[in-house]
Amino acid sequence: MPDIDMTRITDNLMKVYNYAFIDDMPYGFFKPNDAMYVGVRLVDKMYHCPECKGTFTVKFRNDNDGITYFSKSRIAAQKKNYEELSLDFPADWELLEKPFTYHTIGICQHCAEKNIRNSEEAGQRIYNLCHELHMQDELLAAKGKKLMTAAVQKWLDGITDSAYLLQFDLSTHESLRDLICAVIMQDTKDLADALQEYRDTTQPIIYEAKQLLEKATPAFSAKVAHSSSLPMSLSDEEYHEYTVAFPAEDTKGQDFYIEQSVDKERVSMFLTQRRCASLEEVLMDTGFHEEWIDMVVDKGMSLKK
Ligand SMILES: [Zn+2]
Repeated sequence: MPDIDMTRITDNLMKVYNYAFIDDMPYGFFKPNDAMYVGVRLVDKMYHCPECKGTFTVKFRNDNDGITYFSKSRIAAQKKNYEELSLDFPADWELLEKPFTYHTIGICQHCAEKNIRNSEEAGQRIYNLCHELHMQDELLAAKGKKLMTAAVQKWLDGITDSAYLLQFDLSTHESLRDLICAVIMQDTKDLADALQEYRDTTQPIIYEAKQLLEKATPAFSAKVAHSSSLPMSLSDEEYHEYTVAFPAEDTKGQDFYIEQSVDKERVSMFLTQRRCASLEEVLMDTGFHEEWIDMVVDKGMSLKK
């Protein structure tokens, strides 16, 4: 496993996916001014799915004395949502004083299974393919670590005599690390299979998405999944600590689909990113995990007893 300090392919893929679909504004460090922002005592967010009439609520953490700054365009958008839901929008002074609930309208995970995931509409299909690709990227990263850990475990399970383990140099972190890397390198069959499976699954997805994207307009509309456990930015222009609301720690994430404009160029960027193609890249991307050292040390201790 070469020890090169480079951006992991997986990290890069996550970043570009988020750039294309999740958030697209630059991060700035400054306190929002009154001309552009409105302070709101934001306490929670209520999700409404008109298809099943279902709702659920996520509570926010109480940062910055409970005040979150909304850009004026966001206030206007909230007014529209309140209207659509036949709710009374608070007066200006109440925003800062009284607990405010952010209302969002979209499609819940359950309804999305029926209507969105199988959509034949080109824009939605492109998004669905990218979402699937994103899941596959994440899955490969998770599998890499799991299979490498399993290889170390398998090797340790076969050792019954402390003399066998003691023939290796276990004296330093460095030597332990080299030993573990050698163990992993000689047992890569499962990793190779996982990589093959990843390529077999993702190649047709990328191919179809690219074909559809060619015919797409520079910006198109799609319902995009956002997890309810992720932070929410209340600014359309720029985001910073005062304009971001963080869900409470115990929030269970569920996908909620919101209609939004998708930029063709960004999707193209996501699709054409370099992805893990060789075993070496998967190994490098997974990197070294310190817990493998603990596994070897624990085994050595258990054999001594
Ligand atoms: Zn629903």
